[in-house]
Amino acid sequence: NPFVRARYLLAAHNHKQLPPEGGTEVAFAGRSNAGKSSALNALCQQNAMARVSKTPGRTQQLVYFDITPPSEEPIPGNYLVDLPGYGYAKVPQDLQAHWQAFIHQYFQTRESLKGLVVVMDIRHPLREYDRQMLGYAVNRGLPAHALLTKADKLGRGQQTQTLHAVRRDLFSAFGDTVSVQTFSGESKQGVDEARAVVAGWLGL
Ligand code: GDP
Repeated sequence: NPFVRARYLLAAHNHKQLPPEGGTEVAFAGRSNAGKSSALNALCQQNAMARVSKTPGRTQQLVYFDITPPSEEPIPGNYLVDLPGYGYAKVPQDLQAHWQAFIHQYFQTRESLKGLVVVMDIRHPLREYDRQMLGYAVNRGLPAHALLTKADKLGRGQQTQTLHAVRRDLFSAFGDTVSVQTFSGESKQGVDEARAVVAGWLGL
């Protein structure tokens, strides 16, 4: 597992605080409470790297996790980037607007960005902002991968049905640059598959 030593590097509140370009990174997006922190922790085989939050919508920043310790890597390095959770109604309007602009600019201009993972609750897939994030990536020519997480909440039959429906929807909306799988941070279902996709984008 290339992510097993990943650790918190920094939190960026605006464009100037991002690490210098020249590295490689994969961004993780998702609605608040979708299970993004749990997915990051499962990918990295860590219990507490990304905070599993009890107060959704609190982290309004881009959180960078350094995949390899600084002593072993060229600077700038390889990162997993935790984007702020969206869809949380209690975030004030002006703050939401600031975030939307920052995220949009990030997708449009960030050279180091190699792909996007969108984490969605398998029971509520492809909501408005999920589609917006996927659109940002696809419009930049970047690959995207959707995790239908909390799959443990559904039986196998329902999982498969949802997977096929989402795959069809993604294909007609975005073509073949978006892939999708079932996942569970709880049961670890699909973790190896997701890890292989992210590692491949990063050239690891
Ligand atoms: P985030 O806001 O997207 O980072 O979501 P979290 O990872 O903090 O998870 C939100 C809630 O969903 C927490 O109570 C988690 O324990 C729960 N959760 C996350 N992933 C799973 C999963 O795969 N299965 C189940 N059953 N619960 C999950």
